[in-house]
Amino acid sequence: MLNIVLFGPPGAGKGTQSEKLIARYNLTHLSTGDLFRKHISEGTPLGRKAQQYMDEGNLVPDEVVIGMVEDKLKNTSGTAGFIFDGFPRTVAQARALDKILEANGTPINLMLALSVDEAELLDRLLKRGKVSGRPDDQDPEKIKNRFAVYARETTPVAEYYQAQGKLITIEGVGGIDSIFARLTEAIEANK
Ligand code: AMP
Repeated sequence: MLNIVLFGPPGAGKGTQSEKLIARYNLTHLSTGDLFRKHISEGTPLGRKAQQYMDEGNLVPDEVVIGMVEDKLKNTSGTAGFIFDGFPRTVAQARALDKILEANGTPINLMLALSVDEAELLDRLLKRGKVSGRPDDQDPEKIKNRFAVYARETTPVAEYYQAQGKLITIEGVGGIDSIFARLTEAIEANK
């Protein structure tokens, strides 16, 4: 199994690079943002619970996120590994993930953290908002709140994996293919 946490602030390119990594290594994508958006579009109770938090750019409560991830892991079999995209976003989520994976004997191999400066992120997100229609990508105030939430609640997750010797930081600026080359180089050197 190859289990990777693809980490970085909103707009860092996690979704784009996940797609390419999945194709290369035959992995299963586990994006909590995508899972929530699917629940919302299907009008499930979980979707209704998540929507208010997402609309404001705040984090959905840990127990809701962890339960959803546990379900997805339980219901996926025969995969070569997972790419965790947008999860874990708090240290409590990271601890819960370690516990679940430990029980399965398939730990996280590495965290690849995409590094991109804030001005570039804001520019990318506003552009994405025009194309995707995602409400949380269209309002600069909401985007700024997501950056603040990321700085406050999510950056400690990188320290959590660093303490386990699993953190690799990757320059997330440049062409999509050159960033992908940096990611695969790091994977090949560490898998
Ligand atoms: P994303 O698609 O990863 O940018 O996520 C969109 C929104 O979904 C976030 O701004 C949060 O409101 C919510 N969300 C996604 N993943 C998580 C998570 N792991 N923990 C808490 N909230 C999340």
